[in-house]
Amino acid sequence: MKFPVNKYWLYIEPYAYLKYVERHLIVYNELNKTIIEFQNIDDKILNNIAEQLNSDTECCCIEIDEKQRENENVSNFITQLRTNFSGDCIIKTNNFKPLILKQKKEARQQFDFSKIDDLYQIRYKLKLLPREITLHFGMKSEYDKYYPFIDNACSLSSEIDIYNYMGKIYNNIKEYSNVSTLNIICYNDTNYAEINSFINRNHSSYNVFIHCDILQFLNKNVVFNKKHTYCLYCNTDLGKNIESVKNYDNIIFCFYVKNSEEIEKIQAISEQLSITTKIIPAYDNNINFFEKYIFTDRDDIIEQNLSVDDILVNEILNTNFFGRIYVNKFGFITTGSNKSTYLNISEHSINDFILKEMQFNESIWFLLRKNIEPCKNCAYCNLCPPISEYEILLNRFNLCNIYKK
Ligand code: SF4
Repeated sequence: MKFPVNKYWLYIEPYAYLKYVERHLIVYNELNKTIIEFQNIDDKILNNIAEQLNSDTECCCIEIDEKQRENENVSNFITQLRTNFSGDCIIKTNNFKPLILKQKKEARQQFDFSKIDDLYQIRYKLKLLPREITLHFGMKSEYDKYYPFIDNACSLSSEIDIYNYMGKIYNNIKEYSNVSTLNIICYNDTNYAEINSFINRNHSSYNVFIHCDILQFLNKNVVFNKKHTYCLYCNTDLGKNIESVKNYDNIIFCFYVKNSEEIEKIQAISEQLSITTKIIPAYDNNINFFEKYIFTDRDDIIEQNLSVDDILVNEILNTNFFGRIYVNKFGFITTGSNKSTYLNISEHSINDFILKEMQFNESIWFLLRKNIEPCKNCAYCNLCPPISEYEILLNRFNLCNIYKK
């Protein structure tokens, strides 16, 4: 049978990701990192085509006819797909839909939590948990301003004292081969003798970061060990304080900043003393400063170098929070958010906590842009960096310069 040349297959390449939501269409190409974008589409035909492509999760290929093909906006869309090597429109010569193999399904199956019901499966399937563990050895101090996000978790108290469970915590952590980072957060009331013995017994391969005030470090409360990294919190009048330690290459000098002037000061200090610095924006009703330094723009999205699989993982879990576990001074294991299952290390293991958290619908591990206003109405929802501590703190989820309706 001869097919009349008035039907076409319009398809998106397997290495491209298409998202259409609320008349907003984007196609991201993972190979050349280009983005095609149409905002506020008012053409019914293009809207309809975008909708169909978006709902065809199997292969992103649909049939269109001559009339649709000739529509000016559709034609423009096809030209852009071709120019960016992200898709094509070919004449339909038979009834077999072109087979476009997508790696995307695999990512979806790998993270299908509805089929996971025990910890073994979770660990086997994800090979990610836990990836970062943070232990807090103190309570309410000046340092809380450095960690506002976990303030709530830290304020929970119980009868137990974390120092009595150091052996259990150590054995729990030892079980995981996927932990890449262990943070030890020290406060004014931290028992440094216990911390030092805990740190010294650690022979694991993960990176240990010890966070404390620079003065505590200089007073030699924390025993220096070349194997670990020390995050020392400072203010900009460091003065001569750091002369004795500035040449250690495993020290990061951390500064909380609220405005551009402070950033300039720190850059000057960094150049003058040749030290490694970390700048952490602190929110203090300084939204203009945040717009400049925190807000996401298109370049940030491209620079993430995302693969289509990465984007699909963003659809399912918040990679910023996922696998991060905190244990506070009183032994409560949490995700650091005030919406978390709180189990105590005195009665439970970190394993118990992971399993419970995975089944907790409101877990921050699954706090996704696609479910939250206004991002859920934006086609970038799975491309943007996952929701961050700042957004939770500000209760505002579109810290971006990208999509304004
Ligand atoms: S932050 Fe939200 S609104 Fe802004 S571009 Fe990303 S998904 Fe869209």
